[in-house]
Amino acid sequence: MIIIDGSEGEGGGQIVRNSCALSLVTGEPFRITHVRGKRSKPGLMRQHVTAVEAACVISGAEVRGLAVGSSELEFRPGKAEPGEYHFAVGTAGSTGLVLQTVLMPLILAGGPSRLVLEGGTHNMLAPPFDFIEKSFLPVIERMGPKVRARIVRHGFYPRGGGRIEIDIEPAPLAAIECIERGVAQGVAGQAMFAGVPFDIADRMVKRAAKDLPDWPENALCIRELPAEQGPGVILMLEARYAHVTEVVSGFGQLSVPAERLAKTSAARMKGYAEAQAFAGPYLADQLILPFVLAGGGAFTTVKPSQHTLTAIDIAQRFTGRRITLARQPAGEHLLTV
Ligand code: ATP
Repeated sequence: MIIIDGSEGEGGGQIVRNSCALSLVTGEPFRITHVRGKRSKPGLMRQHVTAVEAACVISGAEVRGLAVGSSELEFRPGKAEPGEYHFAVGTAGSTGLVLQTVLMPLILAGGPSRLVLEGGTHNMLAPPFDFIEKSFLPVIERMGPKVRARIVRHGFYPRGGGRIEIDIEPAPLAAIECIERGVAQGVAGQAMFAGVPFDIADRMVKRAAKDLPDWPENALCIRELPAEQGPGVILMLEARYAHVTEVVSGFGQLSVPAERLAKTSAARMKGYAEAQAFAGPYLADQLILPFVLAGGGAFTTVKPSQHTLTAIDIAQRFTGRRITLARQPAGEHLLTV
């Protein structure tokens, strides 16, 4: 059994999700002590419990210590079975993070699956649906599997209530190289809001436009969703290249003025545009699992985050594969499995 100290490295929920996914694919049981040990409220939260439950449902895994607040989790995997599954993250926990847990096992399960996930679709500290659809899944499709994602209803934190549907046509994961972005193909951005004043979204867009003077005038728009899908607002900035799309998100928060949020998002987008690397910081940590399970491949990334380093560490422990990171002359980092 693999024993993991959940307070090491990034010390958060990603260790739990990645361990479940890797365990289902490799058949290795694991125990995590000090679950989410680096968080101010350690232990499993509702959304982590749902993610682990989902891993159990698709595979018949046996688990101990699965409860909100639990700081020790033991997981004995079963065999992931393709099928139709419906998971609801009770509160506005992120649907994207449940997807992170079950996607790779289902992709490698040997038959098509359909997932319905209910909960938050645009939550802080989680991949928003648009990121999954435009940034993450296209890379997975290049590796072989077909994964189609639809958003049926948006759900913002704290109310949740969103719904996404995912169709998975499995295929072995091919080792690929994602070194260059390819030619720039365009930029776009939207402030999407529901049940909050129009003015907030308007201010976000105006500030983003000011801070991104190279962007075409009509690149930014405002999208209003039905009020009952809110309250919530998010600014999403997107840069498309031939081989990759980066989506930078600024999540509306009560305590953060719209302008400040837009300023930060625009600065992050500029940072990515000025760099050479294929993967931004979030895509990088999310690609570790598929790349290690493909058994090879390489991608370039901006400076690796603690999430990425921790994902590498966990992936190496489950698979025994070596993942190296090497700084390149232009400043990007080359990750090789
Ligand atoms: P904890 O509360 O313990 O931090 P968590 O389960 O909420 O745990 P993390 O462990 O922080 O989450 O993992 C968050 C995941 O969401 C990471 O894979 C990260 O790449 C992704 N993520 C966070 N913010 C974004 C964003 N703006 N765009 C895309 N992906 C994101």
